[in-house]
Amino acid sequence: MSRKIEERIKAFPAALKSHQELNAVITDTSAQALERASAGRANGVLSEHLLAIKDNLNLQAYPTSCASRTLEGYVSPYTATPVQRLLDAGAAIVAKTNLDEFAMGSSTEYSCFGPARHPQNQELVPGGSSGGSAVVVAANLVDAALGSDTGGSVRQPAAFCGVYGLKPTYGRISRYGLVAFASSFDQVGVFARTTELTAKVFEVIAGHDPQDSTCAAEPIDTFTYDEERTRSLTIGIAPEYEHADIDQEIRERYLDLTQFLKSEDFSVTDISLPHTDYGIAAYYILTTAEASSNLARYDGIRYGRRDLEGDDLEALYMDTRSHGFGPEVQRRIMLGTYVLSAGYVDRYYNRAQRVRRLIQQDFLSAFDNVDILITPTAPTLPFPIGTKVDDPITMYLSDVFTVPMSLAGVPSMNIPVGRARDGLPIGLQLTAAHFGEETIFQLSRFIEQRYSI
Ligand code: GLN
Repeated sequence: MSRKIEERIKAFPAALKSHQELNAVITDTSAQALERASAGRANGVLSEHLLAIKDNLNLQAYPTSCASRTLEGYVSPYTATPVQRLLDAGAAIVAKTNLDEFAMGSSTEYSCFGPARHPQNQELVPGGSSGGSAVVVAANLVDAALGSDTGGSVRQPAAFCGVYGLKPTYGRISRYGLVAFASSFDQVGVFARTTELTAKVFEVIAGHDPQDSTCAAEPIDTFTYDEERTRSLTIGIAPEYEHADIDQEIRERYLDLTQFLKSEDFSVTDISLPHTDYGIAAYYILTTAEASSNLARYDGIRYGRRDLEGDDLEALYMDTRSHGFGPEVQRRIMLGTYVLSAGYVDRYYNRAQRVRRLIQQDFLSAFDNVDILITPTAPTLPFPIGTKVDDPITMYLSDVFTVPMSLAGVPSMNIPVGRARDGLPIGLQLTAAHFGEETIFQLSRFIEQRYSI
């Protein structure tokens, strides 16, 4: 354990203060990090690094707010598995970061603590829902951060803020201690400023955990950059994405990177993902259904704050949930309850499950022919705060390129590939077959090193 890291931990509160306007952090946890470091308890492969975690991951003895009034006063009695693995690897966890309430959103505006702001322009959103984690990495306050990605919440804010953002394969990382949003989609993900550190943090937190029965026992390949192997990868590009409604500068950058890889003699093929268009609809039916069930526990009796204005049980539920949850969470609970209700379950939920299978099939067929897919991450550049909050459908369309991978459960990562004319970052997304994170890191490293941005 070096002096240097102790100094950095000590300097963190002041650094945070000087970036206060970004509203990226909910709780400063650097006191605990400093204690661990000073006591010589921070040893391991991450002992030189400052980390932050999204505030829907438990860190014992600190609040986990999920940016919701519902969890006011809640203090975590235990530490989430991926967070514990960071600590065991010596990481200094200095902050819990701002997010959309219960990770529902694409802009970090739906937070009871107010919106997080883009590090380059405070009038803009940083993306979401893990916006705070993307911001602290982009603003150099920490080296890496954890987020959670249900339909794009790591990849899209990473694209908006110009950093790497990995959503691993579903089941790669334990969800024990991650507050559930949509359990068959949720994955903990990693933000960092380099491919290498993204891979390192991923390797630390990934792997089987008996506390989560959906967590896979699949071995984790250690990433060592191998240019020769990387050059032998077959790359797929999807015309469905190229022709979609997308910002012109993002499209140009997508085509430019494709040209570059061709000029480097990569084999690049068109791949069809024919069910892409149905992704958003299926995603918002299935995740709201799961959310309505997961959030039923915050009823003022079993979990969460309690409000009582009336004098019966019904009123207690009503008051508690109406005051505790913000508008977006309430909207999703209502939608989810509706799509699961008798009479509608076949028309919506069961049909969406079938679409999910077709989308999975699209990816499986694609990966019969290519090793890795390149697509845009988001259809737009960072947008002004306030422009989409009252228009949920437009907000949902921010996820059009990220939800298909979440429906399929495949790993996918945003890589920064340059800037638009006004200086805002542009990101593209690399996607591999299940458990193919290491393949993603290889191509990411190649592009990081060779593609001038
Ligand atoms: N923006 C998406 C949503 O609102 C994704 C959220 C997430 O990945 N947690 O559902």
